[in-house]
Amino acid sequence: MKNKLSNIKKCINYLNNNECIGIPTETVYGLAANAYSDKATLKIFKLKKRPKKNPLIVHYYNLNDLKKDCLIDINFMKLYKKFCPGPISFVLKLKRNSCISNNVTNKKKTMAVRFPRHVLTRRLLKILKFPLAAPSANLSKKISPVSKNDVIDEFGKKIKFVLDGGQSKIGVESTIVNLVDKPKILRLGGIERKKIEKFFINKNKKIYKKNKIIVPGQGKVHYSPGIPIRLNIKDPKKDEAYVLIKKRKFSKKNFYYLSKKNNLKEAAKNLYKTLRLIKKKKFKSIAVEKIPNIGLGETINDRLTRASK
Ligand code: AMP
Ligand code: MG
Repeated sequence: MKNKLSNIKKCINYLNNNECIGIPTETVYGLAANAYSDKATLKIFKLKKRPKKNPLIVHYYNLNDLKKDCLIDINFMKLYKKFCPGPISFVLKLKRNSCISNNVTNKKKTMAVRFPRHVLTRRLLKILKFPLAAPSANLSKKISPVSKNDVIDEFGKKIKFVLDGGQSKIGVESTIVNLVDKPKILRLGGIERKKIEKFFINKNKKIYKKNKIIVPGQGKVHYSPGIPIRLNIKDPKKDEAYVLIKKRKFSKKNFYYLSKKNNLKEAAKNLYKTLRLIKKKKFKSIAVEKIPNIGLGETINDRLTRASK
């Protein structure tokens, strides 16, 4: 506990001094910096090698903090009450007098925001005098990190500090909902599509259109482990890693299971960890068996499809 407190203090020091650091969230680890500072947010883009036109998600402690920067409405409040803090991000209108750095929004009048649930990051946000811009703590287009070691894997000595919060419980990024015009899901994520659509079913039946994702930085190629991935495979080749949704009675050295019993939540949690492990084992390619396209299976399939391009 004492150790945790001194680590939080270290984080505060770095962040107050315009540095960017790794922070744990329940979705994936973030690369965090003061969202009000041009100097600090610029470091995020440099470290990630992220194109400057891809806007960042900003993390808040609570509603009061958010209201300083963004406009909210009834739809936002409904989802906020149901899912926050948690694995959901909202695109909202930016207030004119907001102090958010132009680097964060790429000078747009909208911004993506989130309220992470991880206890250590909430402690940090409560103490800080500014919100944190924090995209996933990986090099642009690569797999998101779900532990402190994954972040160090990505950046090595280039990152000043990573706060250790254990393995991310959700394991995939947040679901992004655009609330600026008609509600629309921009990216599948840690909350099932249907749970969000339920709130809007009368007004707008289809708030998510597959293959119509128009979020900057959500291009076709993303989440790549750097080796080829083949999907919906029944018979893997001998020398490739084979990813299965549930444990089988028979097993082989190259078999990797995402869950014990076909549990999609557990599978999402283990997805990136498994892909990273396979890459470390120096396999040249990955085959994945068919993943049911329901619940979080939709998110898993979305990520695997992008990773396979
Ligand atoms: P990540 O870098 O993994 O945290 O992902 C952040 C995602 O949020 C990216 O796909 C961004 O394009 C998206 N995003 C951030 N700000 C906005 C915005 N104002 N409008 C639409 N999407 C956004
Ligand atoms: Mg990312």
